Amino acid sequence: MPNRPRRAIWMVALLALIALGAILAAYPRIERFYLRQAGAEDAATLRLATEVLRGALERTQALPALIADRPILPQLLAEPDNEGIVPFANELLRQSALSLDVSDIYVLDTEGRTVAASNYRTEHSFVGANFSYRPYFVDAMGAGLGRFHALGTQSGQRGYFFASPVIEDTQVIGVVVVKLRIDGFEEAWAQSGSTLIVRDVNNVIFMSDREEWRFRRTAPIQDWVMSQIARTRQYPVSMLTRLEMETAPLDPDVGFGLEVARIGRESFVSQTSLIAAASWRVSILTPTGPAVQRAWTAVLLLSLVVIMVALVLATVLARRARLVERLSAERSLATLLEARVAERTTELKTEVEERRATEARLRKTQAELVQAGKLAALGQMSAALSHEFNQPLAAVKSYAENARTFLDRGRMEDAQRNIERISGLADRMASISKHLRNFARRPGEKTGPVPLGPVIDDALELMAPRLRGVDIRYTPPETEIWVRGGRVRLQQVVVNLLGNALDAMAEVEAPQIDIALRGGASPEIAVRDIGPGLSEEALAQAFDPFFTTKEPGQGLGLGLSISFNIIGDFGGRLWAENHPDGGAIFRVTLESATPEAQEHAAQ
Ligand code: ADP
Repeated sequence: MPNRPRRAIWMVALLALIALGAILAAYPRIERFYLRQAGAEDAATLRLATEVLRGALERTQALPALIADRPILPQLLAEPDNEGIVPFANELLRQSALSLDVSDIYVLDTEGRTVAASNYRTEHSFVGANFSYRPYFVDAMGAGLGRFHALGTQSGQRGYFFASPVIEDTQVIGVVVVKLRIDGFEEAWAQSGSTLIVRDVNNVIFMSDREEWRFRRTAPIQDWVMSQIARTRQYPVSMLTRLEMETAPLDPDVGFGLEVARIGRESFVSQTSLIAAASWRVSILTPTGPAVQRAWTAVLLLSLVVIMVALVLATVLARRARLVERLSAERSLATLLEARVAERTTELKTEVEERRATEARLRKTQAELVQAGKLAALGQMSAALSHEFNQPLAAVKSYAENARTFLDRGRMEDAQRNIERISGLADRMASISKHLRNFARRPGEKTGPVPLGPVIDDALELMAPRLRGVDIRYTPPETEIWVRGGRVRLQQVVVNLLGNALDAMAEVEAPQIDIALRGGASPEIAVRDIGPGLSEEALAQAFDPFFTTKEPGQGLGLGLSISFNIIGDFGGRLWAENHPDGGAIFRVTLESATPEAQEHAAQ
């Protein structure tokens, strides 16, 4: 029988595999999801960093113009070597720088030479240095606002420079420069787990909390740009080495926004904002590691869930499969059992039929044996019987002859008496012959109420020739005892018992047979002789067919076995024991019966 649950388990396994495959296939999407999330978490940091930077730049942008309005500056520029003004101007600039929280403030003359500087006291003092090469100077001299970011040539520190012209009577007489230091921002950025980079128009990383990336370029720089950088001494050209950075949009469909950036062996989610005024691009680089880890965790969890669900399902299905198997096993066992039972039933039927046939055969054989037994008994009696007939015949003959003589002599009375005797003898012979006929008759199968008295009488009558000279002790019952049985067969049993008793007492001088009848619920016939009794062997086997201790020709060993079966058929019992005073007792116990019509009597 095909097992559906077992097939279902395979289906579950297949579905689980497909689900796992689908989860794996979906991994890039899952990873993108977590990368986007990581990016989104850092978007605020980027915004904040950009705003702080932009704010600082915007705040500083106005300062040089404000300082340029100071009345002392035209004086200073008019007399740059005036010992009375210069220290005063220097100190003014220093105080201003401190209070405005900017790195440096300095004043250049129209040649680009520093006439006063806030850092006049330090060893990197700008005083005397010429900055005419800086674009901010050029721009400010052109009466505009100059702005520039560069690595300080004097201080060695990066800064953003704002410059404004000092104007006197529409004449530009000098330039005020304010330098904003930027290290502080980077220190703040270093606190976050992500990296911030600020690139200028030339893709040079000007600011980053990663020191090793500063002044690296992320794209090739054209020669003319390179020479411009060299001319303005913006950055030391030797430091502008290439930093390999590949970017690709995170969502190819969207095309902008988050990018995946690979720098060396590291990979980041990158997002960029602009500070237009400075032409800076501020990017925040979020390491992809945690997001990737989260994506894998999610995949793992999903897979685990799939596996768990599959396992649970498989367990349930396996249980069902086992149940189905057990049921089908039980069913097949039941079918097997049924088949066996059917087989056994037919076997039994044939057995029963065979038994019946055997029984019928047995019955027939038994009936034949009964008959044979009777005939055997008759055979045994034949000598006595011939004597029994010959003797009255001889008597009849002599009575007849005497009668003729008496008639001849006219002695009518004597003749009459003789004829009566002859008649009596004929009656007796007729009676014997009747008994013999009855005995030899095949008995019927039926049983019915039988009176015990007549049975014993008939048997004694039948055995009379052999019983001559034997002391028969028998008292007929006062009230008739009725038993269930067949009359002729019962008679045969008694004849057999009497015959056996006689045989046993062949050597006994004064043979004696006791016949006792008992009535009641289980009537009994007891026949006792005073012979040697039953030997041990005979006690054990007397009722077995063909067991005999008699000479060949004397006994067949069938008498007791047939009697045993006859009594058994009547629902009774036949058994033997030795009398304590010697001799054997055979007891026939029978079922009592209530008398009815006499028709069964002959059975
Ligand atoms: P059979 O008379 O042909 O031997 P039975 O079946 O009638 O067959 O008897 C079997 C045997 O039982 C006898 O041979 C005898 O040994 C023993 N037996 C039967 N009746 C008596 C008895 N009254 N006393 C002693 N032995 C007996």
